Amino acid sequence: PFDVLVVGGGPAGASAAIYSARKGIRTGIVAERFGGQIMDTLSIENFISVKATEGPKLAASLEEHVKEYDIDVMNLQRAKRLEKKDLIEVELENGAVLKSKSVIISTGARWRNVGVPGEAEFKNKGVAYCPHCDGPLFAGKDVAVIGGGNSGVEAAIDLAGITNHVTVLEFNSELKADSVLQDRLHSLPNVTVITNAQTQEITGTDKVNGITYVERETGDVKHIELAGVFVQIGLVPNTDWLAETVERTRIGEIVVDNHGATNIPGVFAAGDCTNTPYKQIIISMGSGASAALGAFDYLIRN
Ligand code: FAD
Repeated sequence: PFDVLVVGGGPAGASAAIYSARKGIRTGIVAERFGGQIMDTLSIENFISVKATEGPKLAASLEEHVKEYDIDVMNLQRAKRLEKKDLIEVELENGAVLKSKSVIISTGARWRNVGVPGEAEFKNKGVAYCPHCDGPLFAGKDVAVIGGGNSGVEAAIDLAGITNHVTVLEFNSELKADSVLQDRLHSLPNVTVITNAQTQEITGTDKVNGITYVERETGDVKHIELAGVFVQIGLVPNTDWLAETVERTRIGEIVVDNHGATNIPGVFAAGDCTNTPYKQIIISMGSGASAALGAFDYLIRN
């Protein structure tokens, strides 16, 4: 069996595997797609100490770093079940059952898409999901935020300080964000809020040049010219495969303590799949390190 089996090969999983292997213990990593979300990211400018890089380049460095160690890398394998017996068992989609004394879950998350024409086509060409990551790319320009929940309104407030103008498009008749956030939003001079707006299309040529929406009350179709669209309608953790085994929040995030421990002894979690705030590369890597050290502490006591 493994001492530590990491499930998920993004920044959190790579970090957890390296920290574990450096303890000289038997470490494996299973990943559906090594690299994770950064494989879909063009420019990264907030991975501290690296001024600017690209996602696939960072993923290649992660892989290179992992391969420096004696880590059993099982790429293109999806975990479908976890069960605590004597050891912890992780069953893969291909039927294999891996056994380990401890497991670190780092299966990440995915942004919910609006699913309109132009969204996929202009991803990284004006369509963005992370204001902390991509906000500065739109300095002085006009942008829209789709979604009027807390994350949408937080994003709009953030972007209002960087961009020229922000339009918030909310499908329902009112914003769902906390009232203190709404008050803050309404106090800003360069923000317009449009409710009852159903996004129809993100338009562009080689990059985004506007957004088309339907005014749900009148049925009128409107178009706004802008340079960027931030989609903020939810980040979904990849944790369905855990079913009822590991404690999760209402939105499916794995509940961890500050050692990365879950409610199951020996099962740890790190990165975007957990209930730790702020989903960022540097934070995922930090939590992967914490979970690995947490797992090591667990192993030397059990
Ligand atoms: P992920 O990167 O989501 O990795 C999850 C891993 O688990 C993957 O290997 C996946 O294949 C695997 N997996 C999932 N389910 C299973 C399963 N059942 N079995 C086995 N493996 C599984 N952050 C920044 O800090 N700066 C940026 O500039 C930035 N830009 C971004 C741009 C985009 C377009 C996106 C989508 C995200 C961006 N982020 C950015 C966020 C950042 O990518 C994430 O915070 C980070 O990748 C999270 O790392 P993670 O390891 O927790 O999860």
